[in-house]
Amino acid sequence: MRLPSPVVELADDRLSRRGIRLFLKRDDLIDSELPGNKWRKLKYNLDDARRQGHDTLLTFGGAYSNHIRATAAAGRRFGFATIGMIRGEEHLPLNDSLAYATEQGMRLGYLDRGAYRRKQEADVIGALRERWGRFHLIPEGGSNAWAVRGCAELPAEIGEPFDVICCACGTGGTLAGIAAGLRPGQRALGFSALRGEGFLDAETERLQREAYGAGSGNWSIEYGFHFGGYARRTPVLDGFIDDFTARHGLRPDWVYVAKMLYGIFTMAERGAFQDGTRIMAVITGSGQERQ
Ligand SMILES: *Cc1c(COP(=O)(O)O)cnc(C)c1O
Repeated sequence: MRLPSPVVELADDRLSRRGIRLFLKRDDLIDSELPGNKWRKLKYNLDDARRQGHDTLLTFGGAYSNHIRATAAAGRRFGFATIGMIRGEEHLPLNDSLAYATEQGMRLGYLDRGAYRRKQEADVIGALRERWGRFHLIPEGGSNAWAVRGCAELPAEIGEPFDVICCACGTGGTLAGIAAGLRPGQRALGFSALRGEGFLDAETERLQREAYGAGSGNWSIEYGFHFGGYARRTPVLDGFIDDFTARHGLRPDWVYVAKMLYGIFTMAERGAFQDGTRIMAVITGSGQERQ
């Protein structure tokens, strides 16, 4: 595992002419099977499961979830049986993500949308325990206090000075952790990859309270760059990805990372960052989701 993950500066005249420097924290390079924030979020959850004497992990996700893939890979590598409860109905043949998960030994189950929405509730969890036996439950996306603590270690790995750190948001767990790990004067900016207005701010705050008893107050979330919602894309986003790839030789994951990068460049164009701002963009993953 490659930790700390490398930091590289990205030279781009669209930013440099506005006096902005952009650095990439390459968490996508941590591990090919356990990339980026998914490993940071799982790490202390595995420790916790082991401490409690569990040998089985159960978690939730959509059919293309990076978290499901990562949990399956982590279980195999670190000696846990894994169960993935997938939203919706079974579709055969399995897509690449779920086929990969089962190759890692993960057993799959399915929850209809109603049950999936209520997956935190005691009756749903009770039914899962009846079906699967004893397990350590990791919430959807891996986001809980342990995940937040794992992500909070990221900023301290960075030697370069920076003013703003950016990441893409799904559940908010990564942002909650990164913001908690910042020094005074630094701030974190999340870019929602889904239509998160109305709950993502509250969820990020809740996760910080769960982990530390209080919110850190040094972060905010942009909701203008989701391109229609989770796993939605448009020709504008695809054009941005092709152009970015041609300029920099790095093809950003379209579900999350490209939306953040598009947001950073667009905000820079609009003058949202002061001259001299140093931005650290976390490349949270490598895009193994549906292309
Ligand atoms: C899961 C994921 C995210 C979202 O992380 P949250 O902690 O759920 O907000 C961001 N980027 C990538 C590449 C991911 O796989």
